[in-house]
Amino acid sequence: MTIGIHRPTQLVINRAAIYHNIATEKSRLKPGVELFQVVKANGYGHGIVEVATVAERAGATGFCVAILDEALTLRDAGFKQPILVLGITEPQYADLMATNRISATVGSIDWLKEAANYLTGDNQLAVHIALDTGMGRIGFQYPEELRTATEYLESSSQFNFEGIFTHFSKADAADTAYFQHQLARWQAFMAVLPVRPKYVHVSNSATSLWHDACNGNMIRYGVAAYGLNPSGVELTPPFELQPAMSLTTKMVFVKKLPKGYSVSYGATYTAQQDEWVATLPIGYADGYERRLQGFHVLVDANYCDIIGRVCMDQLMIRLPHEYPVGTEVTMIGEDHGKTISLQDVADYCGTIHYEIACGFTERLNRTYIN
Ligand SMILES: *Cc1c(COP(=O)(O)O)cnc(C)c1O
Repeated sequence: MTIGIHRPTQLVINRAAIYHNIATEKSRLKPGVELFQVVKANGYGHGIVEVATVAERAGATGFCVAILDEALTLRDAGFKQPILVLGITEPQYADLMATNRISATVGSIDWLKEAANYLTGDNQLAVHIALDTGMGRIGFQYPEELRTATEYLESSSQFNFEGIFTHFSKADAADTAYFQHQLARWQAFMAVLPVRPKYVHVSNSATSLWHDACNGNMIRYGVAAYGLNPSGVELTPPFELQPAMSLTTKMVFVKKLPKGYSVSYGATYTAQQDEWVATLPIGYADGYERRLQGFHVLVDANYCDIIGRVCMDQLMIRLPHEYPVGTEVTMIGEDHGKTISLQDVADYCGTIHYEIACGFTERLNRTYIN
């Protein structure tokens, strides 16, 4: 895909914020607990290789990704640490994973038996057993199945039983009843586990921030590294998370719109009086959603409304008075003490900041500071 490097719109990623968010969490962990940084979906939109580089410096000793290709991207970039693919990879890629020392998530015996057919020579595949304690997504559902799987793994030299894990669906909620229910199911699984593998892990960001007593010996630290509160606004993190992502642009066209004139597709906005309007070079093709019509941006510490429909590549804002072409606009981030957070954008869109962050497309140039 083409990256827009010759336009003033950019995602600015503050490496120091990512460093702070990881190093601080790392310092809170009990001795011996490792932090694997989750860098799936291009590092939640922040850039997979750049985030992994900062994470390594900040104390991450491994990485988690969602799909095999993301793991291969890290290997191509030279990362030597353990990498766990959190999703189910098709068994036919078992040999490719083993060759690249990439660990696979396993949720069924059938998967293991099929993968065994693809492993060549002495290639041994490291696997993490996923347990479904109530997320209902992937993993073994019953302790008897876990027992069968561990017996199979013990009898096979083609696999290295490297880890076991589960995933909580409500670790970010003030009401902990469902979390406790999942924890009890996890403990029932642990009771039948004959040997503990190297990594026993249950914690995403929310679990480690608010339920760290059950961390095991590794955490899968994701969204909090990017400075985003996993619970949105419901719970307060135990330390200050610093948002790493800003989105800025510049006005490329400014005009006085006469009273009664309309703006953008569908002519949904009509000026009630003469007003100053600027056009910004960003649109929904960049991941700045069409639903953001009526939201605002920051110009010179003033909140300015987005008027009319957001187009694919451009949008219009109403100014308090005339500004010159080239004036800086903050769409996400801070401008002289005023802020627009990813949370604000997500709230307006009726979604979560995760979706907004990873929804920014490749066309947006990412620049790195600090
Ligand atoms: C994405 C993911 C994580 C990271 O979650 P955050 O909420 O971003 O910390 C951890 N574990 C699994 C299985 C995941 O899919």
